[in-house]
Amino acid sequence: MSGFDRSDRDRVLEATDLVALVGEHVRLTRKGREHLGLCPFHDDHRPSMAVVSHKGIPFFKCFSCGAAGNAIDFFMRYHRLEFPEALRQLAERAGVALTPRRGIPAGERDVRSLLLRANEMAAKSFRRFLADPELGGEARAMLDRRGVAETARESFGLGAAPAAWDRFATAVTSWVARQGRDEADRLSADDFAAAGLLRRSSRGEWIDGFRNRLIFPIRSEMGRVVAFGGRQLDPEDQPKYLNSPESPVFDKSATLFGLDLAKQSIIKGREAVVVEGYLDVIACHAAGFDQVVATLGTALTPAHARLLRHKADRVVLLFDGDEAGQRAADRAVEVFLGGTLDVRIGVLPGGLDPDDLLKQDGGREVLQGAIDSASDALDFLLRRFGGAFAQADGLSARQTSIEAFLRRLAELGFDRMAPLRRSLVLDRLAQLTGLTAAALSAAVPTLRRAAVPAAAAAPESAQPRPMEPMSPALRVAERSLASVFLSWPALAATESEALARGWRDPAAHAVAIWIREAVDADREPALADLLTAVDARDRHALDELIEHAERRPSLEGDARSQLDSALADLERLDRLEAHAEASRDEHPPRDPHDVLRRLERLRDGGVRAAAIGRVPRTA
Ligand SMILES: [Zn+2]
Repeated sequence: MSGFDRSDRDRVLEATDLVALVGEHVRLTRKGREHLGLCPFHDDHRPSMAVVSHKGIPFFKCFSCGAAGNAIDFFMRYHRLEFPEALRQLAERAGVALTPRRGIPAGERDVRSLLLRANEMAAKSFRRFLADPELGGEARAMLDRRGVAETARESFGLGAAPAAWDRFATAVTSWVARQGRDEADRLSADDFAAAGLLRRSSRGEWIDGFRNRLIFPIRSEMGRVVAFGGRQLDPEDQPKYLNSPESPVFDKSATLFGLDLAKQSIIKGREAVVVEGYLDVIACHAAGFDQVVATLGTALTPAHARLLRHKADRVVLLFDGDEAGQRAADRAVEVFLGGTLDVRIGVLPGGLDPDDLLKQDGGREVLQGAIDSASDALDFLLRRFGGAFAQADGLSARQTSIEAFLRRLAELGFDRMAPLRRSLVLDRLAQLTGLTAAALSAAVPTLRRAAVPAAAAAPESAQPRPMEPMSPALRVAERSLASVFLSWPALAATESEALARGWRDPAAHAVAIWIREAVDADREPALADLLTAVDARDRHALDELIEHAERRPSLEGDARSQLDSALADLERLDRLEAHAEASRDEHPPRDPHDVLRRLERLRDGGVRAAAIGRVPRTA
């Protein structure tokens, strides 16, 4: 087992309380001797997952999708980790010391684990720099000005990147050299570069990825540092906020800042509050609002909703009322209408963000009031429409306004809403407009039909697909391959097998179709065609893909080797997903011991397959 002692696994299982572990991820309710919760492994609407701890080896089991297993299985599947990394994290959580591993062949290096360790080392260095009288002076002054207390600096692990060019690079170089020769999985400077922490200067020397910035470690739900956000200390340094690039451990649109510290109170209070900035989260926690997290410069995405829906009954998005907040609110309605989460919108008065508000007298009460009075996302949208409608002058302006609103509703997924809810919306609209609900209802399908022909004219394969649930690692891998395709479309045209794969990310899928269509028509792929090939509903995904492509660390090597390494990553993940699917598809047996035996076989097979996948391609 990849150098792990079998007894390590048993000791970790013994030391891990499964109910507590699952309860850290999913809100559980006690029912008799078992605990029930929403299953995080399928689109669960009533609690289908049981955690059974009173007979033999504790196990979880979903009666709907068949997901089942022990604590390690739960952890691997929830966090999409490979066995060694899951074991390592659970051992750390339970305070179990693992048997030291023997040397591992270079081909078996686990990229995710290396990136996490590089980030961990960097977080320590940044904390040290912040404490340094000289190097951390400016960052500390900013924290003082913002009123961030010492306890908050510690719990959020804040740090500083010095103003020098290579202060961190020097620390890494000497740290890398000091690593024990026998230590398996030794880190190299390249691993730090892959995490965006180091860059090559034009002269080929290692220099710091973050310079002269206040550093906010971005941690996973389990408290692992997956990335960093760096805030400028000098207004000359652009951008104001710099984030680590996306990587196999960091998917920006599926990460919430502060979730590691907030999740217990989110589960307990059944409510999550989402704000926009690092300092807002820190100020809220300091004021006792422990259920607060932040998105990382994006609107609430379906991936965020998936992180929260097993923990909270409702999610309140707090905005400071400016135009950006309004746009984000609009996007949140989309998630809301997707039907998985009760999303509410709260607007803070006076255009103040939570950090500023909490510094004022009575700010705490105002913030609490905004959370309590937050309105249903749909209600928010309707009220905004009501305001615009009342201002529309004349019959045709009003008609245009209604039509635009109905079209927007259709785009946002009105047809996916529960019928009862749909008729409530139509009733509200009828009140606002003075039209009958029946007339409005008749207008919606007309608009929906009118929207169809453009998409129908496109080839079948170009039909927009709904965002599928997928692991952050798989999304990053698909986007990385699609990024290489975007850079070298002609080279991509020769990869017919990869182009025809079952893409899950809609933007990566669109890129593949775009190239395939050009190949079929025997011409060069033209970028303008890509824009028309992407459905309006996937445009946001395309924006993210382009951003991902722009932020990829510039890799060594030529197009061919970049393509090969992106292909190898994706193949490895496909194999892992296939194993997860296989365990889901098989008919769930009744005997839990049989389930465990079969899961162990699958897992051991998965570890072997993963090891094969990590051997670099020699083609
Ligand atoms: Zn399930």
